[in-house]
Amino acid sequence: MRDIDKIYIDGQFVTPRATETADLHNPSTEEKIGTARLGSIEDAREAVAAAKRAFPAFSRTTKGERIDMLKRLNAAVAARVSDLMEAMALEYGAPQTFTRFAIPHAASSFLTMAKVLEDYDFERQMGCARVVMRPSGVAAAITPWNSNIGFITSKLATAIAAGSTIVIKPSEMSAMQTQILTECLHEAGLPKGVFNIVNGLGNVVGAELSRHPDIAKVTFTGSTAVGREILRGASDTFKRVTLELGGKGPNIILDDADLDVAIPAVLRMGFINSGQSCIAGTRVLVPNRRLDEVLARLKQETERFKVGAPDDPDAMIGPMVSQKQYDRVQSYIGLGTREGASLLTGGLGRPTGLDRGWFAKPTIFTGVNNQMRIAREEIFGPVLSVIGYRDDDEAVSIANDTSYGLQSYLHGSDASRMQALADRLDSGRVVINGAPHEPLAPFGGFKQSGIGREYGVFGLEAFLEPKAIIA
Ligand code: NAD
Repeated sequence: MRDIDKIYIDGQFVTPRATETADLHNPSTEEKIGTARLGSIEDAREAVAAAKRAFPAFSRTTKGERIDMLKRLNAAVAARVSDLMEAMALEYGAPQTFTRFAIPHAASSFLTMAKVLEDYDFERQMGCARVVMRPSGVAAAITPWNSNIGFITSKLATAIAAGSTIVIKPSEMSAMQTQILTECLHEAGLPKGVFNIVNGLGNVVGAELSRHPDIAKVTFTGSTAVGREILRGASDTFKRVTLELGGKGPNIILDDADLDVAIPAVLRMGFINSGQSCIAGTRVLVPNRRLDEVLARLKQETERFKVGAPDDPDAMIGPMVSQKQYDRVQSYIGLGTREGASLLTGGLGRPTGLDRGWFAKPTIFTGVNNQMRIAREEIFGPVLSVIGYRDDDEAVSIANDTSYGLQSYLHGSDASRMQALADRLDSGRVVINGAPHEPLAPFGGFKQSGIGREYGVFGLEAFLEPKAIIA
């Protein structure tokens, strides 16, 4: 049993003022594995006060000083990749096939931002005005459970690059990973108060940060419903707000796609992080004339996917993070059948041989139309909907017929045709033929997938205010 009883304020590990705790569970076994003491509103306020005290000096640091800090942060996190992978496996049941990529990527956020900062000019001349980019003030970051480490590091790296101090409210379901990460960040020896990490409940610590008058900017990653709450809380003092919310990504197979390449890429992004990902490509759009062969390949490949606990290095799909998430996934699988879709593979219940743990079967529905709830709502589990289409125009129209617009996928053979189709998709990112993640490119959503962009120069500028000095 691990009991986490500290939060991090003003450069020190401190005990939260409140005595409430949250239980931590291992999703692969359903066993309780520890508790985490929760921060209170007073803790959140203290953290904001520390970040406010640190802001004047930190906002005046040079680019070179901040690049050096980012490099130290990278080294400190990179030194504990295996501890972080282990905690992520224990708390989330995340398969090694996911953590092997996710944790090193999280550590590298600091180096990516150091590179952006090196090339960035904080001052430029526009007509007779000198335009200076200044940090907007003390920032707050609120992160979801599903890749908590990666969201903390990318938001923190951007704040440091901008010269902002920050208070971070991680997901309360991620206390073990957060504890190890905080130890790493502490090792980097940044000035006290520059970053503060307060674990706690969303409607307590998160809500306080999103409305606190001394917070100038909120960066949030999480559900669309909570994003709305945060925007309301932030509106009184007109905070700068970046929201990275949900998705229902179209995963479009074109009629000229080579299925040997396309099917593994479709499934990799459909079932990424056991389907518990905002960028999962969960609507698989297939040309009607190739439907039979695509369905046969999807079924065959999915049934080869190994579901299991993270101690199995070959497991591609792990458990759902909680009983609540398992129940939610089951309810959507039941709904799909009631809405008239057919099961190609998977279905209700646990996979054979896995009697304990919140494991769901990788499930694919066929005969889905885009108006069904399973095609419109974010399920956040390994459930894909196959939707047939007639021609490219219809594919684009189905792809765009959603309230979301985060990340879309195209699979085909003709590069210029895919570039033209990408231009027609209402989506913050379009990934062609399974291209790898590009950390310098902006990330964020159209429509109800959010507001603003993270990563690279766009992410940096979301922490800055332009000031024009006209002489
Ligand atoms: P969530 O919205 O329930 O919680 C996210 C964070 O917000 C948590 O830290 C939570 O404690 C906090 N929170 C909850 N209520 C709050 C309130 N009233 N005020 C302030 N903070 C509050 O999301 P989750 O279940 O942790 O994560 C899954 C969701 O996150 C999915 O919808 C997924 O699509 C989304 N997500 C989006 C991205 C992206 O980059 N667009 C990435 C990952 C996850």
